[in-house]
Amino acid sequence: MSRNLIIAANWKLNKGPADAAAFLDAFCVAIKEFKGSADIVLAPTFLTIPSVVAKLDGCDRIAVASQNVSEQESGAFTGEVSTAMLSEAGVQYVILGHSERRSIYGETDAIINAKVKKTLAAGLKPIFCIGETLEEREGGKLESVLTTQITDGLKDVADLTDVVIAYEPVWAIGTGVTASAEQAQDTHKFVRSVIANLYGQSAADAVRIQYGGSVKPANAAELLGQPDIDGALVGGAALEAESFFGILENSSF
Ligand code: PEP
Repeated sequence: MSRNLIIAANWKLNKGPADAAAFLDAFCVAIKEFKGSADIVLAPTFLTIPSVVAKLDGCDRIAVASQNVSEQESGAFTGEVSTAMLSEAGVQYVILGHSERRSIYGETDAIINAKVKKTLAAGLKPIFCIGETLEEREGGKLESVLTTQITDGLKDVADLTDVVIAYEPVWAIGTGVTASAEQAQDTHKFVRSVIANLYGQSAADAVRIQYGGSVKPANAAELLGQPDIDGALVGGAALEAESFFGILENSSF
């Protein structure tokens, strides 16, 4: 089963509109030379989304993601942003369950599950992040942690067609330490088997599973060449147009 790669930049709390415009000035020129077929996604802060969407007019094939969304519809929820607002702004994907949301902001599997369902109901596509800490991996809990995150995070989600999964080992995020291609492949294969148990083999064969954790141009080809790795979610190396484009270039083999 061939799955189109999806390569996404998570800008986190970086790049206001001016910095994003400077990135796109360079990136939109570079992308004209890109021969690969990967889906390309940029995830700016909420504040920067409208200027990125406006600037992408004339810079084809790039979709926009938000880094979070409210599970609420509207009303007295200070500081939140709704799925309807994101749709109106031109967003297509929503990153959910990132380890920073889980560990710093206390998002539980239940909260993430509510956000996944809200996102899908609005016609947006969740990039649903899962991953274990080093302590969990070394303590032999890798499989149980991932199984719980998947089972609880996707509870009552009937159809995975619009869901992208991002496997991001917490110990590899922003640390410069990357899972080896073999470790990442083994874990992606396991994640796909959990999906097969829950949704059946054809859904498991179709679902795209990105790897995230210190992906850079130098390691992208090896990681993205693994049979169960269907793309990358990139933090640090996506802040510069040149290195993010370098990852894309290493995705077309
Ligand atoms: C991330 O935050 O999703 C991420 C993978 O970051 P980095 O590439 O910097 O490890």
